[in-house]
Amino acid sequence: MTDIAIPNDVAEFLTTGHSFVVVGHEEPDGDCVASQLALASYLRRRGASSYLCSVGPFNRPEIAEYGDQFSATIPQQALDEKAAAVVLDCSTSERTGALGGAIASLPTLVIDHHSSGSAFGDLRFVRPEAPSTALLVQLIIEREDRLTASEARLLMFGMCTDTGFFRHLDDTSAAVFAATSRLVAAGANPRATYERIYGNRSFERRKLLGRQLERAEWLAPGVLYTHQTVADLDALPEPARGDDDLYMLLRAVAGAEVVAFAREERSGGCSVSLRSSESVDVGAIALQLGGGGHRQAAGFSWSGSLAAIRSELGQRLPAAVPIAAAPGPLDSSSAPG
Ligand code: AMP
Ligand code: MN
Ligand code: MN
Repeated sequence: MTDIAIPNDVAEFLTTGHSFVVVGHEEPDGDCVASQLALASYLRRRGASSYLCSVGPFNRPEIAEYGDQFSATIPQQALDEKAAAVVLDCSTSERTGALGGAIASLPTLVIDHHSSGSAFGDLRFVRPEAPSTALLVQLIIEREDRLTASEARLLMFGMCTDTGFFRHLDDTSAAVFAATSRLVAAGANPRATYERIYGNRSFERRKLLGRQLERAEWLAPGVLYTHQTVADLDALPEPARGDDDLYMLLRAVAGAEVVAFAREERSGGCSVSLRSSESVDVGAIALQLGGGGHRQAAGFSWSGSLAAIRSELGQRLPAAVPIAAAPGPLDSSSAPG
């Protein structure tokens, strides 16, 4: 990633408004929540009103504590104030849940880093080369002002959740590390951030990780698949959504080019996460299935059963995996233990 400049019209949108609704995507993650909180903090420091909005649910353990700062609807006061909207980390308007319709009449700035999606909003600051939306928010704040320590901590948290604590970055990422260095100088603590994202898991959650690993199977050469049922969640004292530990362990399996993880949801249906090595564009696959994301991390919702999604993935994923890079066994009986 080379340096990203903040366009003047983006800076003007944020510096001239007096009231903002700051919107993120449904099933928010650390990048989304941190970007919203840091941008709202900056706007308030400038004297503007800012209203944090998200349909939630805040069921990833690392963001659960922030849920009560967000409203699931657009407050009437914001509409009365003729607020402008800033939509963060959303590749489509649908990703905001019901909020998309509610803000349709407001002037809208989109700040995002997804590589796919459908364009919406009046002004778009979308940079797929940025590893997180938090980085874009950092650059916006830094253009005008110093970061507060609390904003730096939030932005570090956002950066680390979307980069898997920097492990998805490569030798083109010097500018990202330079920006992260500025966060540390402003008060962010890498060790505390790591602990926040990866520590403090319940024992039951670790047992669930064991079951997810136990169920992993080769759906095709190079394609590892596992799942979680609604019943798996009964024993958990905390909500479970973020599964970075699982992806880290399965992606590290020799021959695994794609990792697919299907979660049965309480609402019926399933949600599916895809992770890949550089050779496979899972963002394109998720897009075909009605979702989206990035080249190496993507997801989609699925209204059928776990069995149906397993079969669908079994048909679609093999074609995406290069044969030469797929030494994995053909069936689970011969898979490594
Ligand atoms: P996840 O697997 O939920 O951590 O999501 C990985 C990436 O895929 C993130 O960038 C998400 O924004 C994106 N993503 C996940 N689910 C969906 C969906 N249903 N529609 C669009 N993008 C999604
Ligand atoms: Mn996100
Ligand atoms: Mn993001």
